[in-house]
Amino acid sequence: MPTHDSAAPLTIGFDIGGTNTRAGVVDASGTVVDTVSTTTPEDEDGLVHAIVELVEQLRRRHHPVAAVGVAVAGFLDPACEVVRFAPHLPWRDNEPVRDILQEELELPVRLEHDANSAAWGEYRFGAAKDTDTWVLFAIGTGIGATLMHHGEIYRGSFGTAPEFGHLTVVPEGRACSCGKRGCLERYASGTALVDTAVEIAERGGFEGCGLYRRVVDKRASGNSVVAAARNGDALALATMDHFAQWLGQGLSIVCDVLDPELIVLGGGVSQDADLFLDTARTKMEAGVVGSGFRPTPRLETAELGAQAGMIGVADLARDLA
Ligand SMILES: [Zn+2]
Repeated sequence: MPTHDSAAPLTIGFDIGGTNTRAGVVDASGTVVDTVSTTTPEDEDGLVHAIVELVEQLRRRHHPVAAVGVAVAGFLDPACEVVRFAPHLPWRDNEPVRDILQEELELPVRLEHDANSAAWGEYRFGAAKDTDTWVLFAIGTGIGATLMHHGEIYRGSFGTAPEFGHLTVVPEGRACSCGKRGCLERYASGTALVDTAVEIAERGGFEGCGLYRRVVDKRASGNSVVAAARNGDALALATMDHFAQWLGQGLSIVCDVLDPELIVLGGGVSQDADLFLDTARTKMEAGVVGSGFRPTPRLETAELGAQAGMIGVADLARDLA
């Protein structure tokens, strides 16, 4: 159990998204003591320069920073030194990002996948404290997932495990950005909510709903579906139920493959888990092999919110300080 230690070094955690780059100074208890942010530049030199500039800003505020962690939404090599490909960032072709940043910053740098960073944060300071075998299921635009076992992040042999978002759940189903069809994240993510609402609306019977016009005019977003569900809109509630059923189905596969003791739902969509958690849990429990005769994991929501990745990767960097 980590305790606050004023002698332990401060580190910076970066969360680099396709739109914004945020950095926070984090202490050994996982508390974010200061933050800065900027728009994520579209070119590689610009992004490196922005990272250096944000570190300089934080250092000018008299934070004695000893190492830097960088959470990246992309594929890394298993040693976490090279960004193989980051679809929403300028790092596209096996960039040795760890070495580039260490040279520019003159500080030790730890790279980590964004879902893994959030998982580490939840493991150290949040919903998964002291949990031996557990899975983070981060639901946002897509689905990111992390498996932790015996206090370590499981990466697989080539650094890509686990890709639960791209399990094929509907043969020849909705097209996915990964190139396949029928992936789980096309049915159980924030963006999937809109596709589902359109499908349900086109089947008819919901013309009187407030959400209906927005959906057929292609003006709906995942957030507008969630907001309508909170107002009791029948089309939105049917959409959320479809989402919850698919999420539960996906989680039952996670149970059958990994048999974890805990599944933590993270990512932006998890903030509205009260709308779908019970249905997803029931579906998960009904969907496992040996249903009714075996324990299934606790299903809980993340505790660290949008700062989980920043806190987690800053904590990982502390080992280098
Ligand atoms: Zn896919």
